[in-house]
This record gives sequence, C-alpha cells and structure tokens, in this order.
Amino acid sequence: MDRVILIKYGELSTKKGNRNFFINTLYNNVRNKLKEYDVKIRKDRARMYIEFKDEDLDSIKSVVDKIFGIHMYHIAYVVNSNEEDIKSLLLNVVQKEIFKTFKIETKRSDKNFPIHSQDFNRVLGGLLLKNINNISVDVHNPDLWIKVEIREKQSYIYFNGYCGSGGYPVGTQPRGMLMLSGGIDSPVAGYLAMKRGVVLDAVYFEAIPHTSLEARNKVITLCKKLVEYTDSINLHIVNFTPIQEEIYKNCREDYCITIMRRMMYRIMEKIASKYKGYVIVNGESIGQVASQTLTSMSVINSVTNMPVIRPVACLDKLEIIDIARKIDTYETSILPFEDCCTVFVPKHPAINPRGDISISEENKFNYEEMINEAVETLNTIKVENAKDMEFSDLL
Ligand code: ATP
Ligand code: MG
Repeated sequence: MDRVILIKYGELSTKKGNRNFFINTLYNNVRNKLKEYDVKIRKDRARMYIEFKDEDLDSIKSVVDKIFGIHMYHIAYVVNSNEEDIKSLLLNVVQKEIFKTFKIETKRSDKNFPIHSQDFNRVLGGLLLKNINNISVDVHNPDLWIKVEIREKQSYIYFNGYCGSGGYPVGTQPRGMLMLSGGIDSPVAGYLAMKRGVVLDAVYFEAIPHTSLEARNKVITLCKKLVEYTDSINLHIVNFTPIQEEIYKNCREDYCITIMRRMMYRIMEKIASKYKGYVIVNGESIGQVASQTLTSMSVINSVTNMPVIRPVACLDKLEIIDIARKIDTYETSILPFEDCCTVFVPKHPAINPRGDISISEENKFNYEEMINEAVETLNTIKVENAKDMEFSDLL
C-alpha cells in the first residue's frame, strides 16, 4: 500500500502575494532536511507530498516535526482516483483501525470526478456500515475522522493528523544575529526567532581564562540543538577578555554590567554589518535582572540604531523554561559553567543606570580600537546538522 506524508500549509496559505515564495522556501527546506533519505517530494498550491520508504517513517517524522512552516501533516494512503479503487482501499485500511464511531469527509478537488462530495460520503459511509460490525456515524465527535481527498490522478485517504512546529519557513526572513550565551533564555529566543522565518547567525562573547572551554562547548551544544530547526548556523566567538578587563579596571563597579552590555551591542552591530544581519536577537526578559529593567535596556540599547528583537521579553521564566524543555536545550543550559556575565557580577549593579554616567565611565578607556580588534579576530565556526560532527572539529 502506497503512503505519503501529506503536508497542509496552514497559515502559509493566507499569504497572498508571497505564497509561492513561502511554499518554495518550505519545499527547499524539506528537501534539504531529508536529503539523506530515499524520498520523492512533490508540491502543488495546496499540499506537499513526501513519498518515503516504510522503514524510514519514524525517523522522517522526527525531522518533519522540526521544520517550521508545517502546521499539520497526515500519513495518507494513495490510490488512483476512481470509485472502485477508493472504496476497496478505504475498506481495507479502515478495517485495521480500532474505533466505534466515525465520520467521513470527502473533498473533491477534481471536479471531473463524477460523484459529488456529499453523495460520496454517503456511499463510503454505507460501505463501512455494511462491512464492519458495531460501528456508527458521529459527525460531531467521532473516534475516527476519515478524510478522502480526490485529486486529478490520485486520491488520498487519511485519518487524524499530527501537529507540526508551525511558524514560517526559515529563510522567508533575512538574517538575524542571536546573542547566544550558555543560559536558558537565549536559545529559546533563537528558536522563537527562527519560528518566524529568520535565518540565524549566533554570537558568543567569551572571556578566557575567566571562562572555560567547557562553557564554549555548552554554547556549541546549544547551537547544535538549534540547528535541528534550520540548515546551519554560523557561530561567531568573540574574544571579549581585553574589553572586560578594561571595564573592570577603569569603570565604576555598579556600571560595569551596563557598560559591558553597551560594548556587546556595539560589537553586535559591527558583526551584523559584516555578515549582513538585519537585527540583533537576544534573550533579555523585562525585569529579570538589573540589566533588563526598562531603564537599563534603554541605556544599553541607545548605542545602536539596529532593531533588537527580544522574543522572550514578556514571558515568565517558567514559560521560558517550558519552551527550553520542549526544544531540549534546558539540560544543557543548566550545566554549571560560568559565562562572562556571571564571572564579573558586581555586588550592586545599577538598576536604573543613567546614559550620561555610562558615557563618562566608558570613555575612561579607548574602547573603539578594542571593539574593532574584537570584530577582526572573530573565530567563526559553521555548526551544521551532521550528527557525526565531533567537538574536536569545532574547537
Ligand atoms: P541567558 O539565560 O540566555 O544566559 P540571562 O538570564 O543569563 O540569559 P543575561 O546574562 O543578562 O541574562 O543576558 C541577557 C541576554 O544577553 C542573553 O539572553 C543573551 O542573549 C545575551 N548574552 C548574555 N551573555 C552573553 C554572552 N556571553 N554571549 C552572547 N550573548 C550573551
Ligand atoms: Mg546568561
């Protein structure tokens, strides 16, 4: 019996002018993600179909589950579009299901098919009632919802479906630069941005020897988890040590975090312009720590004109953790390696920092040159899907 994965576009189909662009991007993403499998992929304006080998189904499903832009999919039986073939396949596949009540919904996309949808529902329903004992029709809350889609050459029979990841296909928006620390929030922020179709580069600020290679490994592991939702992620590692040391040597202690984050934003802007990123994405959440009060955010944000997207800005920590668990980054994020923000925490960071004080404090050392140096000496690694990628290749 031939089966296909039948993908419904959902929200995509409301994008009038951009529809083809969205569908083509999704098609390319699906093809790319399944390139290691023996599959055939077809699409039309309403549906995408993946032909697969039976033994690969579970593994393919786990890949499809992580492709943004897929809202719903079904495992559908394929049959030639003629009445007798449809009837015999329907009876055959429904007999394998366990249910008491059912409903049949025929959709006749090919208007040349001689029987109207409502009439065909009655024909097929009658067939099942006659051949299977102890079942009845329930149009409101059936155990088994049977859909029959009649298209020009082939028709599809399927039951209840699976939810996909939703969102828009990655690549329907240009690049964003994710500030990826080893914490809980930033991987979630990256996931949510990709869900809107954004292509991501990630930037990690590292302060060796104050931070360890284990901390870097953690970020690489998080990146690999995020890559499951996209094609590949360029991870740019910034040597932040000299700047951090200058900040702590020269600036007022309570302003160190504010100034450190202003430096990060300045570096982000330069990396973005070098790698064609349109926005900065980060895991800031309103009120979570001193540097994330609205006053802090405003003083920090004022060093750049680039838009800063904060997908978790208005979520509670527990809501962020729920998503982190769902995307399997949580266990990695809570590993106890310090990152550059936790190493240098002042006792009493400014909760409502002032812009003028930040400027006069940071002008106590020549940061422009150091920022340029940090951007010129970036260590960029491409984190790809390959399951067999070794850490040693990345360090
Ligand atoms: P997270 O859980 O993502 O570490 P957090 O609650 O620890 O966030 P902060 O450390 O204040 O919050 O950082 C806020 C955001 O700034 C992070 O979510 C991340 O986007 C960015 N950020 C912080 N430290 C770094 C770093 N070392 N490298 C890259 N980005 C960072
Ligand atoms: Mg952090």
